[in-house]
Amino acid sequence: MIETSSLATLLAQVMDDPHGAVNPPIVQSSLFAFDDYNAFEARMAGQTDEALYTRVQNPTVAAFENLMAQAEKGEAAVGFASGMAAISSTILAFIKAGDRIACIEHVYPDTYRLMERLLRPFGVEIDYYPVDAFANEPDLLKDVQLAYLESPTSMVMATTDLARVAAHARRHGVLTMIDNSWASPVFQNPLSFGIDIVLHSASKYISGHSDTVAGVVVSSQAYIARIRDLTLPLLGGKLAPFEAFLLIRGLRSLSARMRQHEETAELFIKRLKAHPLVSNIHAPELDSSPGLMGRAGLISVELSDHVDIPAFSDALKLFRLGVSWGGFESLVIPARIALAQAGDKNSVQRFGVSPNLVRVNLGLEDREDLWTDFEQALTLGANKL
Ligand SMILES: *Cc1c(COP(=O)(O)O)cnc(C)c1O
Repeated sequence: MIETSSLATLLAQVMDDPHGAVNPPIVQSSLFAFDDYNAFEARMAGQTDEALYTRVQNPTVAAFENLMAQAEKGEAAVGFASGMAAISSTILAFIKAGDRIACIEHVYPDTYRLMERLLRPFGVEIDYYPVDAFANEPDLLKDVQLAYLESPTSMVMATTDLARVAAHARRHGVLTMIDNSWASPVFQNPLSFGIDIVLHSASKYISGHSDTVAGVVVSSQAYIARIRDLTLPLLGGKLAPFEAFLLIRGLRSLSARMRQHEETAELFIKRLKAHPLVSNIHAPELDSSPGLMGRAGLISVELSDHVDIPAFSDALKLFRLGVSWGGFESLVIPARIALAQAGDKNSVQRFGVSPNLVRVNLGLEDREDLWTDFEQALTLGANKL
């Protein structure tokens, strides 16, 4: 193997297959049998570590986990059946009744519901702060056990200085966790700034093809061992071997896709800034976001009061209307529709997002075609009023 920090090179050399296969086998087996009594007993006693049962260990899943650990510059990783399984299993491995979590405002809505509907009734206290406060207010983490972060956040794309957050957290003995789905391991590696645990909804950029739901956590050996010992087996939100195969396939083209998303986002931001029907753009300023090495294709745009948002949405031809992001196809979700989701108050409502905001996932289609579509829909949306 060539020593490399390039994800693309790393992925090109992962296979060590006797047949010369360039893709990993999908090991579709729930259990793994032993040659004799002694080998079985040694494995059950934890003296060896070969695969035993797919709820906790599977060779295809392990191949994906090893790649993710290297991509995020961590020591170890563990895959999950969804981003939410990764998030809930990680928080529950470290938090108990009476603990206090400092969480960012505008956190992913289902993470917010996890905090409010599941953790709070179990006796966990949760306070919400703007993401930049974690870096700028050194004592914000006093008497806190866990700092839960996204940077950029996934609705309004606000960022913070992760190295400063990690330094404050160390001083107060606070565990730090970040949802790094937006940046992907290509554009940000939070562990290198001292953040303790990184997690991803692998359903987004890592899969990249809108064909699977999955999650992954990367950290030190010790923290991953705790999750593997406690919440992976007991909550059972495991990643399946076929999904792991799809995620490895996604990882192979991740760097190339992220560069394409970035170029399209740059073009959109430049043109949207000059557009009379756009009043505000939410996208991270790369100059003032230390550690962020590039721009993903997920931005939010506030349309002027002169645009009818349902008419704009219905006028789109290439962009489709839908949740999620990170795949090939470009998508739009108006904040008003996000607000309509679920009966309970969610993070979008609670922290005030403009009703004129639309979140835009810029996919891999031709960027001039995308722009033509977006612009004609703005014009039609404005003519409606
Ligand atoms: C989609 C998403 C999640 C949840 O991931 P699933 O794979 O859908 O469970 C978590 N965080 C962010 C930022 C997301 O966009």
